[in-house]
Amino acid sequence: MQSCIFCNIREGKIPAKFVYEDEDVMVFPDIHPLKPIHWLIVPKKHVSEVLFLEDATLERSLFKTIRRMIKKADLESKGYKITINGGGLQDVDHLHIHLTGPMK
Ligand code: 5GP
Ligand code: ZN
Repeated sequence: MQSCIFCNIREGKIPAKFVYEDEDVMVFPDIHPLKPIHWLIVPKKHVSEVLFLEDATLERSLFKTIRRMIKKADLESKGYKITINGGGLQDVDHLHIHLTGPMK
């Protein structure tokens, strides 16, 4: 694997202010936010994209974190988007879920 930005963030080699962290998942603000809240929900383990997410426990952890972060960001009733880029559309080849809002 070539040098990976999000693995480097996990290792503390690139600074990021974690909004949330547990054993499996880390969440930090996107460096170029599109909305007042633009957080990246990222598995700590390197998985290149959603097609290769084969760990059901990790998948559950990611969705649990999405729900938790929607509430933490107070976006439940303000409109939010959850986006996963893949198939070569993504810039960073380490799975990440964009949570953006408010949208209304
Ligand atoms: P993608 O197009 O791969 O879905 O999105 C990658 C996202 O990662 C982009 O929105 C970009 O702004 C963000 N990003 C790239 N490098 C860094 C970084 O070093 N730190 C943080 N916090 N975000 C980054
Ligand atoms: Zn990585």
